[in-house]
Amino acid sequence: MRKALAFDIDQTLNIAKTPIPIEIAELLTKCLNKFEICPISGQKFDQFLIQIVDRLVEYGATEDQLSHLHLFVAQGTQYYIYEPTGNGYDVKNWKQVYNYPLTDEQVAKISKTIEEAAKELGFWEEDKLAPGDEIIENRLSQVTFSALGQKAGTEAKYAWDPDCKKRQQIVKLCKEKSPEFEYEIGGTTSINAITPGMNKQFGMKKLLEYLKLDMKDVLYFGDMTQPGGNDYPVVQMGFDYITVRSHEDTAYALLGIISVI
Ligand SMILES: [Mg+2]
Repeated sequence: MRKALAFDIDQTLNIAKTPIPIEIAELLTKCLNKFEICPISGQKFDQFLIQIVDRLVEYGATEDQLSHLHLFVAQGTQYYIYEPTGNGYDVKNWKQVYNYPLTDEQVAKISKTIEEAAKELGFWEEDKLAPGDEIIENRLSQVTFSALGQKAGTEAKYAWDPDCKKRQQIVKLCKEKSPEFEYEIGGTTSINAITPGMNKQFGMKKLLEYLKLDMKDVLYFGDMTQPGGNDYPVVQMGFDYITVRSHEDTAYALLGIISVI
């Protein structure tokens, strides 16, 4: 039997950038009794809390169940675990196990590269940003371009680049300008820029190392498993995986898994 289930987040466990639906919270909470559960995504720690952990706690996940939740933040370049105290859930009990941040120089160079590329292609949509929002965000281990910012509505995000064509052009130009970095398409409007190798492969290797597992112990779920997608590095490593179109497919697969254990 598998020992761990690993999940991309956006479009795999939720509608991009929103908290997981109650159905997924229920299924994940059940899975925490049987598996190590490992979400891995380009997002920041606070988004893991908002989108996943808070929903599990609302659903009634216990501290013991949460001790089987492993947060592989920023593509697994940061790793957090929950240490139960016996006094009920407290956000302070999350402990960072490791962190591999970019340098300030790398962040500055990547930010400049993406901004220039998006502007040259006419895809720099600063006028559409909500107040206080930003297109380029430093997520410590990666720099993320979100064409319409973090706060844009889901519908607007889906409509911006449904066939990934805009982002493919931006990525191509970024590679010409600063080939020392890697650029991956993810979510609905995002490009993640990293140093070579600091993608989900890095996180998945760490997952095996820290959880003391073999590749065959893990089943991975993602929506961007095609070449160029941000789940593809996991596929290339040889993990067994399930490609989903949305959290509804994931729920369907989890129901199947739960019914046979
Ligand atoms: Mg995804």
